[in-house]
Amino acid sequence: MAILLPWRYWSKNNNSKLWLKMDTTLIYIDGDYYNKGDAKISVFDHGFLYGDGVFESIRCYNGNVFGLQEHIERLYESAILLHLEIPETREEMANLVCATIRKAGLNDAYVRLVVSRGIGDLGLDPRKCPRPTTVIIVQQADPMYGDLYDKGIRVVTSGIRRISSDAIDVRAKTLNYLNNILAKMQANMANCQEALMLNHLGYVCEGTGDNLFILKKGELVTPPAESGALQGITRQSIFELSRKIPIVCAERNLTLIDVYTCDEAFMTGTLAEIIPVVEIDGRTIGNGEPGLITRRLMAEFVEIRERHGIRL
Ligand code: PMP
Repeated sequence: MAILLPWRYWSKNNNSKLWLKMDTTLIYIDGDYYNKGDAKISVFDHGFLYGDGVFESIRCYNGNVFGLQEHIERLYESAILLHLEIPETREEMANLVCATIRKAGLNDAYVRLVVSRGIGDLGLDPRKCPRPTTVIIVQQADPMYGDLYDKGIRVVTSGIRRISSDAIDVRAKTLNYLNNILAKMQANMANCQEALMLNHLGYVCEGTGDNLFILKKGELVTPPAESGALQGITRQSIFELSRKIPIVCAERNLTLIDVYTCDEAFMTGTLAEIIPVVEIDGRTIGNGEPGLITRRLMAEFVEIRERHGIRL
């Protein structure tokens, strides 16, 4: 993301102001910092060759790294599920994230934290990768859905199922997103902003990069962990905010019929935050506008996002 920064150019006779295009993206790779053009990893890195690694997306709001502790915890849990030993301790990693944001000079940032298996050879064997690669990308943050927070998004059900725990433990946030990408392509082809993925049993699971909530008969419901949905950190905030409203918030398996007949729907994710859903598979949700409870939760989320986390 490139932003315009004023750069004052003073000279004896001239007092002109130049506008330079500066990219504020900063990347940490294994102990060193790079700008966007210079940040490179080896083609033998198994993260690149095989998607062997874990990652987190983190937001920093006005100098507050939202849910940093939770993101770090999930990263290490994901790594354990992959038998990937992260060289940094949790504390060192949290400090590295904060240090990279500070060094980038950004108050509102999007952070991508990646730990891959590291550099090996062309075989699959992870024993050939002596040290994991740690990458932290920090860039200026923008609301993912622009003006759609006021209007809501259209969603289509994808024929691509969420990977089940029989294949890869669904609690792990790994670099393997190919089925999510294929589902996202279906959304693109259907001229929708997001796709809904079902699990192997046909229950509604989640979006390609976000969790789903519906409001039905005055109760908020989201698919449980056993459905295969990632235990989103934004999703967790909804449980907390629902107690404040107060409104009942339950975890239950959802069928497509439950979803089609709900009063309100929204999706949650670090990038998306809380985005209202107004249409699913061509069916209008509620009155076709973001619902009252959804709007209330969005407003409450704006209230807490600068407090719940670690200050830089
Ligand atoms: N589900 C999937 C598949 C995701 O990749 C993500 C994160 N992008 C989420 C849900 C939402 O999780 P979080 O709120 O922690 O960002």
